[in-house]
Amino acid sequence: MPDMQKHMPRRRFGQNFLADPYYVRRIIDAVNPLPGEALVEIGPGLGALTADLIARAGHLRAVEIDRDLAARLRERFSAAQLTLFEDDALRFDFARLSAALLMPLRIVGNLPYNISSPLLFHLATDTSSLRDLHVMLQKEVVARMTAAPSTSDYGRLSVMLQVKFAITRLFIVPPGAFTPAPKVDSAVARLTPLAAQAPRLDNELLFARLVSAAFAQRRKTLRNALAVCCTPDDLRAAKIDPQARGENLAVADFVRLANQMSGCQESEVRD
Ligand code: SAM
Repeated sequence: MPDMQKHMPRRRFGQNFLADPYYVRRIIDAVNPLPGEALVEIGPGLGALTADLIARAGHLRAVEIDRDLAARLRERFSAAQLTLFEDDALRFDFARLSAALLMPLRIVGNLPYNISSPLLFHLATDTSSLRDLHVMLQKEVVARMTAAPSTSDYGRLSVMLQVKFAITRLFIVPPGAFTPAPKVDSAVARLTPLAAQAPRLDNELLFARLVSAAFAQRRKTLRNALAVCCTPDDLRAAKIDPQARGENLAVADFVRLANQMSGCQESEVRD
């Protein structure tokens, strides 16, 4: 059980603390941390994963926004065991940390669910500084991350992450494994950067805006959803049916269309 004495969980920081040693062990085994690796935990909280990550790796870096929890972590772990950044992970410069360590980072986190999508987008901005990510999220979010085209879960999050990462759902974690228990099931996912296998994107910003526009109104055909930037002929030239919807396009289709349009200004693609 986590040490809840004196700490009232803060909803605004998405604090549901992992309290079941079985799931702690499964997560740590999935990560398989080794000494010398650049391990970074996001939101260590009361240290459920932190202690075992340190036990396996010797040293850990962590980013925690809650000052009270940061103070407790500093009391519990020595500076030789834990380098703690008291910071907002949404603004934390992970690429800079990786450059300073001369190593790609291994990110681990039972993430605050209220910021999971923006945090994943933030981490995806520079995948060259990442070796892998093991993250616990709401089960529905993991379903969206791993969804295939033409399914109801497939959307902006699926395309924006799958263009950069291979994503695997590892296992489900029930609400009873946490204190306080969340209302929903959780799932642990592994994200590994595609690196050399990643499709070449001529203009990442334009790609992002195109994907947003295609999913802004799911029921719109691409001909209508993308009318501000491309004609039906442009779509056909990219081998895309103008009557299709965003949800019908594979990640490779979005890449092809965005690269074909790379001469456009991003501002011409509105979402
Ligand atoms: N890792 C712990 C566990 O498994 O029991 C805590 C997980 S709890 C779901 C999320 C943690 O992330 C909390 O410790 C919370 O304070 C922290 N957190 C919330 N928002 C954050 C942010 N923007 N940056 C860094 N940490 C954050």
